[in-house]
Amino acid sequence: MEIKAQIRVLEEIQKLDKQIYHLNAERERIPRELERLRERYADEEKKVKESEQRLRKRHLEIKEMEGELKNKEQTVKKYQLQLYQVKTNKEYSSLEAEIGNLKADASALEDRIIACLDELEEADKDLQEEKKRLEEKRQEFKEKEREKKERSEQINRQIRELEERKKPLLSQIDPSVLSQYRRILERKQGRAMSALKDGACEECGFMLPPQVIEEVKIGKELVFCGSCSRILYIRNE
Ligand SMILES: [Zn+2]
Repeated sequence: MEIKAQIRVLEEIQKLDKQIYHLNAERERIPRELERLRERYADEEKKVKESEQRLRKRHLEIKEMEGELKNKEQTVKKYQLQLYQVKTNKEYSSLEAEIGNLKADASALEDRIIACLDELEEADKDLQEEKKRLEEKRQEFKEKEREKKERSEQINRQIRELEERKKPLLSQIDPSVLSQYRRILERKQGRAMSALKDGACEECGFMLPPQVIEEVKIGKELVFCGSCSRILYIRNE
């Protein structure tokens, strides 16, 4: 087949290859996008786990304070019994003073425990909210992950279809023309061909010498842009 006719077919091939190129690029982005989503979710999860740990620690601290309070109360009881057994006034008043101190300590401790429990109750509520939001985010993440995987499969199918449509066209092109086309396609991000536009290469804007334009019009052989090396052609209006 004449070069001129082959170029017409190449234009059709180029249209398909452009689509394939974009689909491939989209498919290659998917793993990175998934990774980003996964990281974002993992960050959220980490924050909730940290809150949970903080609260668990708070719970333990309060338990300890409660134990301490119980000790103080028991000591008070013990001392109160001892009051009956002391022999001297001095001993009596010193024990009484000790009891007074312990009671004051215990009451301060009790106040602190109550304040901490109130605080903790609020924090627990916040944590439950956080967990609920996290669960929503997990589902969102799963949903997006599913969508991305589905899209990837869809792209595979679309590319296979396009490749099928290309086959009968490819068989019409000389192997040497095809290999030149493919080399450029690879280097030029899926665009191996460029139309003439107002005396310039449409893809790169390079002004073409009149002689080159003439050669493209004659169409006896492949003509390349002197700047971007793409195969030049005249677009069918
Ligand atoms: Zn060019």
